[in-house]
Amino acid sequence: ATPTSIMVGTGRAAEMGVLFRKGDALQELSGVSVVALDKTGTVTEGRPELTDLVLADGFDRQSVLSRVAAVEERSEHPIAEAILRAARAEDAPRMTARDFETVTGHGVSARVEGAEVLVGAERMMTRAGLDIGTMSERGAELARRGRTALYAAVDGRLAAVIGVADPVKPASRAAIEALHAQGLRIAMITGDRQETAEAIASETGIDNVIAGVLPDGKVAALEELRSGSGRIAFVGDGINDAPALAHADVGIAIGTGTDVAIEAADIVLMSGDLRGVVNAFEVSRRTMRNIR
Ligand code: ADP
Ligand code: MG
Repeated sequence: ATPTSIMVGTGRAAEMGVLFRKGDALQELSGVSVVALDKTGTVTEGRPELTDLVLADGFDRQSVLSRVAAVEERSEHPIAEAILRAARAEDAPRMTARDFETVTGHGVSARVEGAEVLVGAERMMTRAGLDIGTMSERGAELARRGRTALYAAVDGRLAAVIGVADPVKPASRAAIEALHAQGLRIAMITGDRQETAEAIASETGIDNVIAGVLPDGKVAALEELRSGSGRIAFVGDGINDAPALAHADVGIAIGTGTDVAIEAADIVLMSGDLRGVVNAFEVSRRTMRNIR
C-alpha cells in the first residue's frame, strides 16, 4: 500500500463523512468478513417509547407509573427517558426516590415513599428472588414483537410488565442489504433478550444475534462471532461499546454517539446511521484495488 493511495482513499472517505482515525484501518477493512453491530442507538434509534403497561392484580396505573418514574429519574439509560416521558404525558404524580442503585445490564432500584421499587429485565427480578409467574409470558409476547420487556416490583410483589419499543433507524435495512451485497456477514450484539433481538434482526436482515450480553461481555461476544481466519469489525455508539470498539480488528463509532466510543474507534462516521459503514467498506475496497 502506497502512502499516496491511502491518503487519497482517506480523503475520499472524509468527503463522504467517514473519518479514518488510523490510516491502516483502510487496509484492515478490506480483510473484514463479519460486521457486528450494537443494537441500541446503532441499529435502532436509541430513543425508546413506552408502548405497553400491563398491571398485576391490585395495582393501579398511575401509582405504578409514579413509582417507576421516580426510580428512573435517577438513571441515564434511554429506557428511563421513555418511562419519564410517559409519566409526564399521563400526569402521574411526582414522587421522590432515595437509595438509588443501578445493577449494570439488569435494571435499577430505589426506595420510593417508603416502598422498595425494582425496575428492570427479567434477570433483575430473579436476581432479587422474585417469582414473575404468569407475567413471564406477557413479557415474552412483547419481546417477540421486538419490544424490550421490563418488570416493575413494589415491596417484593410484581406490579407490572412494561413494554418499550425502540424503532429501527430508517437507513438500517438498506445499509445491511448493501453490506450483504459486498459479501459481508452481519451480526448484532445486545443486552436485550433473545426474542427482542431476533425480531429486530428479521426486520433488518441481520444474519445472527448474540443476546443477553452484559456490558462487559461484548468483547467475548465478538470473539464468539469471529469466523475462522476472517477479521471482524464492530459498530457501536455507547460507553459500553468502547472495549469492543478497541478490541475489534476495526472499531467503527457512530458520530452521534458518546465521546468514549468515538475515542476508542478506528473509524468515526459523521452520519448517525449505518450508511457510513457501507461507504467505509466501499472506499476501502476501491483503494485496495488501486494499490494492487
Ligand atoms: P442495551 O444497551 O442493549 O439496552 P444494557 O446492558 O444497557 O443493554 O441493558 C440490558 C437490559 O437491562 C435492558 O434491556 C433492560 O431490560 C435492563 N435495564 C438496564 N437499565 C435499565 C433501566 N434504567 N431501567 C429499566 N431496565 C433497565
Ligand atoms: Mg448502543
